[in-house]
Amino acid sequence: MDTISYVFGDNLYLNITNKCMMACPYCIKHKWANKFNDNDLKLKKEPSCQEVIESIGDPKKYNEIVFCGFGDSLVNIEAVKEISKWIKEHDGKVRINTAGLANRYHGKNVLPELKGLVDIISISLNGSNPKEHNELNRPMFGEKSFDEVLKFAKEAKKHIPKVIITAVELPEFDVSNVKTIANEIGVPFRIRSYLDTKE
Ligand code: SF4
Repeated sequence: MDTISYVFGDNLYLNITNKCMMACPYCIKHKWANKFNDNDLKLKKEPSCQEVIESIGDPKKYNEIVFCGFGDSLVNIEAVKEISKWIKEHDGKVRINTAGLANRYHGKNVLPELKGLVDIISISLNGSNPKEHNELNRPMFGEKSFDEVLKFAKEAKKHIPKVIITAVELPEFDVSNVKTIANEIGVPFRIRSYLDTKE
């Protein structure tokens, strides 16, 4: 049976799609044969919003409900909106972990649509220039993706209460450059350990 949601620490993680705007070689889909803490995150079929909501139960039981699975949830922006609305109506806290390419992917600014529905957006920025970002993450939009992620982070500040930029400690990747970028944008920076990329 598909893993739609899974508990890790104090949080509940939602796995709503296999699709992603990037093809990172370090992703769990390559590293751990889709498994994260024994949860097989490869979906045979994308769940309906109702199925996701039923898998959550009481949102208040968790510190955060986090959209973060095998793919990038913002590919399915309408589902994120509907599920987040339900979580907020039931006093839960919503975080989205994303590659930061949703505006480019959808060809419009989706961030105003998330206003009031999402508490935290955590944007992964592995790479401190277009070439490095492209090499490390293999994004859909090639080297243009780097500037798109920066634009997305700046725009997110207008609509989401807390915006975080994260970078994974990868071999031969200097995360301190990403910290500088986060400082310039004016958002907190967080390092994620290599084997813990889904937290
Ligand atoms: S952005 Fe995340 S889900 Fe997508 S390929 Fe990279 S690590 Fe995997």
